[in-house]
Amino acid sequence: MNLPSSTPTSATAVSAASSTEVCQECGSQDSWVIHPARLRGALSFFCTHCLLRNHPKSFCPSCLAVYDPSPPRHYQRVPCSDCGSYTHIECAGDATSPPYLCPPCRNPTSFSFFRPLVGADGVHRMDKPLSEAFLCAAKISALSMKRAVVVAKLEAELKGRECVAAKKRAREALEDVLKIDEKERAATPKVNEASGDQEQKPKQSLGSGELKKQ
Ligand SMILES: [Zn+2]
Ligand SMILES: [Zn+2]
Ligand SMILES: [Zn+2]
Repeated sequence: MNLPSSTPTSATAVSAASSTEVCQECGSQDSWVIHPARLRGALSFFCTHCLLRNHPKSFCPSCLAVYDPSPPRHYQRVPCSDCGSYTHIECAGDATSPPYLCPPCRNPTSFSFFRPLVGADGVHRMDKPLSEAFLCAAKISALSMKRAVVVAKLEAELKGRECVAAKKRAREALEDVLKIDEKERAATPKVNEASGDQEQKPKQSLGSGELKKQ
């Protein structure tokens, strides 16, 4: 399978450099292999290899089957003692006794889930294992974005409910203020009509009352 070239011409180099889709892990700018994913509450972009390394529990690192919606049961899987990924027990072969290391953890410096083959003409070519890794990452990305949409909807609903509650509290507070205002007006109905002398009289009598107590 031939794929769009990302490096051989200056035109593509410019488009890659101006692209905002850069793998946040390794800095890869091959926009055609950058996947969006929601990780630790934030939207991020990853190349195929880094996306798979950041979602160790979402797929089998040996056969690249995506676990949707959940990983196999504990007796059907072998956990990696390093990254926590789950390998199908049948994919792990004889190496199932702990501590088990999954393929990328066995060779962390040299292993890559996705190393595109670049021909002499600068054109990327994808073989079956690469296309399987790409498909696996694309599926995990799609699941992650689907979950992000659900989370965003829930957050919007929560904000909507908070907004309704805040409006209700504001209305109640306003009603309380109006009631207090009404009471004050009812308690002192003659103040506005009364002369300055009448206004001072209650204060004077209160003052004399206080004096008597002392
Ligand atoms: Zn990367
Ligand atoms: Zn497997
Ligand atoms: Zn591992």
